[in-house]
Amino acid sequence: MLLHILNHIMLSRTFLLVLFICVGGVQEGARTPAGLINKYEVNGLQCWIITHVLWVANAQYFHWFSPTIIIDNWIPLLWCTNILGYAVSTLAFIKAYLFPTNPEDCKFTGNIFYNYMMGIEFNPRIGKWFDFKLFFNGRPGIVAWTLINLSYAAKHQQHMFSVLIHIAIYVLDFFWNEAWYLKTIDICHDHFGWYLGWGDCVWLPFLYTLQGLYLVYNPIQLSTPHAAGVLILGLVGYYIFRSTNHQKDLFRRTEGNCKIWGKKPTFIECSYRSADGGIHKSKLMTSGFWGVARHMNYTGDLMGSLAYCLACGGEHLLPYFYIVYMTILLVHRCIRDEHRCSNKYSKDWVRYTAAVPYRLLPNIF
Ligand code: NDP
Repeated sequence: MLLHILNHIMLSRTFLLVLFICVGGVQEGARTPAGLINKYEVNGLQCWIITHVLWVANAQYFHWFSPTIIIDNWIPLLWCTNILGYAVSTLAFIKAYLFPTNPEDCKFTGNIFYNYMMGIEFNPRIGKWFDFKLFFNGRPGIVAWTLINLSYAAKHQQHMFSVLIHIAIYVLDFFWNEAWYLKTIDICHDHFGWYLGWGDCVWLPFLYTLQGLYLVYNPIQLSTPHAAGVLILGLVGYYIFRSTNHQKDLFRRTEGNCKIWGKKPTFIECSYRSADGGIHKSKLMTSGFWGVARHMNYTGDLMGSLAYCLACGGEHLLPYFYIVYMTILLVHRCIRDEHRCSNKYSKDWVRYTAAVPYRLLPNIF
């Protein structure tokens, strides 16, 4: 029996080690407007695990610093991250004029303010691998998201459980599927400026953790039905979010040679022209969640976000800032993305919107 348990532990350790080394690797991003395909070093999960193992090791064994260090230095950290956010955005702005990574993918609008805010370079890099978008979007802010909540929990442990669970699932999902992230709008379509640089360094870590901060000062005890409702809403939202993203990723990776909900997916064949004049083919899926509405991944995300807020009870509006912000962000993002897709695919996009007429909720929007 003991041998069996030891064997089991060794096997799971080996499994974890193999997993640790194998997850990620070098992955290709989507084609840029100028027709380039960038390669990315995907190692977010490893970064997240190392950071959190060190955090827990410090909190439990080493005691080099207090685990409440983040909440105890909230205001100084807000200053520091602001300096970092503006420094990164300014560096990206200057770099675009002096030494752009791919000059043919730069977008100069003639409005210097817009250029600074929305970015000029598409994929600014230093050296071969340090990619501004992947690093700033996928490291400081998102790794800190769970760390900050752990620091809040260290200050006031009792009532953080539901918030921590929701965040941990969301953040771990992001890193587990980091290769998928290379095919999202942030990486495929946005240029890197203040919007992403400052947003990733300041907005994300400070605003996305307001629920945890609220609970430190306003601890609440949820009733069992309330807690169960929050958990169910969060899990259903997560299921829709993950499945929708997975379906698109699978469909695009296999070029439609896969099964969605047990059947071969249906799709609309599209063509588009890149900035270098080349004509390319693409497919827009009309099966699975992509046949229910055009952005069910946003719907699932919003359900999860609402659950995250509801975990703070109903006594104050502050924790609900997140769902209000996410609704504005994702509705605006949906409209912005559809405008871009409409320009990209023109009459093929019209055929697609006729086949899947609703954006987020069937028969409503
Ligand atoms: P999507 O992953 O939905 O990507 C949209 C792109 O997918 C379109 O531009 C188009 O690109 C392609 N596409 C659209 N319709 C189809 C279709 N039917 N079949 C195949 N491809 C299609 O958007 P995002 O990158 O915005 O979102 C990714 C995830 O990240 C979402 O789940 C979202 O909720 C989440 N998110 C979370 C945020 C947060 O702050 N928590 C912020 C932003 C996003 P193409 O040009 O290649 O055809």
